[in-house]
Amino acid sequence: MVTGKLPDHLSWSSISTYVQCSLKWRYHYMDRLEPEFTPSALVFGQAVHEAIGAFLESTLTGDRLSAANLADVYRQVWLSHDGPGVRFGSKETEDTLQKKAGALLSLFVDQYRGDTEVIAVEEPFAIDLQELWPEERCQLPLFVGVVDSIQKQNGSTFLIDYKTTARKPNGSVNVMQLVGYSMGAAGLGYDPDEMDYRYDYLVKTAQPSMVSCPVPVEEKDRRRFLKTVDRVWEAIQGSIFYPNPSYLCSSCGYQSRCNQW
Ligand code: SF4
Repeated sequence: MVTGKLPDHLSWSSISTYVQCSLKWRYHYMDRLEPEFTPSALVFGQAVHEAIGAFLESTLTGDRLSAANLADVYRQVWLSHDGPGVRFGSKETEDTLQKKAGALLSLFVDQYRGDTEVIAVEEPFAIDLQELWPEERCQLPLFVGVVDSIQKQNGSTFLIDYKTTARKPNGSVNVMQLVGYSMGAAGLGYDPDEMDYRYDYLVKTAQPSMVSCPVPVEEKDRRRFLKTVDRVWEAIQGSIFYPNPSYLCSSCGYQSRCNQW
């Protein structure tokens, strides 16, 4: 049986953390332990993400921010980080990351299509999965998230999730987040079957690039998503927590504690 306090909701980040390493999930989402460090990629991604959000918001007012403005937003977000100290990767410094962010955001502004109609930016949702999941193996919690953006381009409506990454996606992306977000969009009043879904990756290689990965979402995918959440939640309630060492351990802030497990 679980002895700590279970969260009353799950996000995609929480679900994917559990799938990657259930012990890390327990430390973070249940025991709420402070990690020993914050990986630079996390702060970098959040800061770039906020800069893109600020740009999309600015298109709604018709007074678009420039790439220099976005670099300022990035800098402000970076400086406002007040969690555990940032751990940098090899050959990385605050300055090299600021330059990479500037180059990526500049590319983002350059490639932004003038015919884009931004419909929504950073829209939060909370949906009751139990209503969508007829099996009663366990009572599912709320599923919460934030839709990065909904945009119209070429007569199609896209739900877009922006990601920063160190490498170009190789074609096989994990579709499940957008499958879950299609249900979130339904909760926000959109018709999920009238939308297209895609991840837009900002690739922070020496030569920065942007890669769009369309994700087809069908009803069978939603059922698979719900089944996954159901099994994850059942395992959490059954106190199934154990280390799953992988390449992800290098960016895990619970290594010392995990070593004593
Ligand atoms: S160090 Fe690795 S195995 Fe241990 S909790 Fe973190 S991710 Fe899991």
